[in-house]
Amino acid sequence: MTEKDEAVLLQQLAGIVGSTRVLTGPEDTAGYQQDWRGRYQGAALAVVLPATTSEVAAVVKACSALGVAIVPQGGNTGLVGGAVASLDQASILLNLSRMNRIREIDASNNSLVVEAGCILANVREVADQHKRQFPLLLGSVGSCEIGGLVSTNAGGTGVLRYGNMRELVLGLEVVLPDSAVWDGLRALRKDNSGYDLKQLFIGAEGTLGIVTAAVLKLFPKLAVSASAMVALPGVQQAVDLLRFLQEQVGQRIEAFEILSRRQIEIVVKHGHGLSSPMPLDAPFYVLIELADSSPTWDAGAELENVLAEALDRELLSDAVVATDLAKAERMWALRHNISECNKHAGFTVSNDTSVPVSRLPAFILGVTERIERVVAGACVCHAGHIGDGNIHVIAVLSRVMYSTPEQCEAAAAQVNLIVHEASVELGGSISAEHGVGRMHVQRLERFKPPVDLQMMRMVKAVFDPQGVMNPGKILR
Ligand code: FAD
Repeated sequence: MTEKDEAVLLQQLAGIVGSTRVLTGPEDTAGYQQDWRGRYQGAALAVVLPATTSEVAAVVKACSALGVAIVPQGGNTGLVGGAVASLDQASILLNLSRMNRIREIDASNNSLVVEAGCILANVREVADQHKRQFPLLLGSVGSCEIGGLVSTNAGGTGVLRYGNMRELVLGLEVVLPDSAVWDGLRALRKDNSGYDLKQLFIGAEGTLGIVTAAVLKLFPKLAVSASAMVALPGVQQAVDLLRFLQEQVGQRIEAFEILSRRQIEIVVKHGHGLSSPMPLDAPFYVLIELADSSPTWDAGAELENVLAEALDRELLSDAVVATDLAKAERMWALRHNISECNKHAGFTVSNDTSVPVSRLPAFILGVTERIERVVAGACVCHAGHIGDGNIHVIAVLSRVMYSTPEQCEAAAAQVNLIVHEASVELGGSISAEHGVGRMHVQRLERFKPPVDLQMMRMVKAVFDPQGVMNPGKILR
């Protein structure tokens, strides 16, 4: 791209969104150009901040006329480098955070229409004000945005009960790469009138179009809940305990998360004011929450009874039930602060794989042993959504032993290969909920069957023949 073209484009963009909404100086763009983990650095020509769908469409039109790529961005909390501009193609970062209006709430239909830039915490708050619940919950709740959550098909702790983002979206509004606006904002639970087009954009990581608004599914507000932390001798017991709980309390399991002792120790060490409510002398722990919308159900008593029964059956070795909400929140803070605390513990290589739940024990045991044998000094931690078969195997490496970027990248490649090979061998996926982004493009080529890849390339070519939508992400 010539300097003249660049100047013309920046002027056009300023004409569309206003000159103060086109950021070009390094001091203004730095926070947008780097990913959350600080692993990828982008080189977008500008960060553009539209406020309406028509502004987004006009920006797309101006960019694609010059062959300039568009990298959509929400809260920039993604963990695979998906919202960072690639270095080898002229591009702009299109940050949707200003599109943060709640357009409509229909409490009788249990649905909510929100713009892409709405922060998840705010959406949950609005639902709560209307005596409803939007159940998606993840550690980045205070920063991640609806457009990013849709585009990564985010998961989190509520998937066991409510499904991931794909199951929580009823409709979408999308600006397509040719700048046409697709109004798919329907709030229907049944619609078999042809292909379900919204599913193409959910989990597409911004490679097929820009999500500008979504219709979300709401659920009755929860009236009662109870949480517990449970010590376990191994992963098999976690799987058995989950099955036992499901038999006893059915759909009332709001969350069931596994953490290894080493992982909790890191959180306790690096998290301000965080502590474990029980001694850390078992290899694994699960955090459990039971909840219901019926105020007459005694969640605390039910949890105590079912855990006592599980103890009798030797499904667990110890348990602590939180006696009030504040204690429950402190327990859950151990889970939600993992990513933040791991950043301080060293160079972390975090994997996001899934296998069938029944194969988790063999998977975790196998990869842990191999990583510790092959990667010098690796401290392997585990955390994850065990009910979904989704485990984060996290290798923490000392910054003294791994002091250069090259050493870190080489170790990361070793760890990832071990985990990815083992997950695929056991019928799993190399990416359960974080997506592919820039990080796993080559891995996808290696592990995804050729027919899958071919179909994905065909879809991409139909929607984005010019290759301007978030190039270099998911597919080369
Ligand atoms: P970004 O990071 O800004 O973007 C993510 C991807 O979506 C990029 O490819 C981007 O180009 C694309 N995109 C963004 N907005 C749009 C749009 N409007 N239209 C089209 N494409 C768009 N993820 C989980 O699934 N489960 C977890 O439990 C979880 N826990 C986390 C905990 C922490 C502390 C952190 C930092 C992250 C966690 N994540 C988790 C990852 C991350 O929060 C999710 O991937 C989230 O969905 C990203 O949202 P975002 O708004 O920050 O998107």
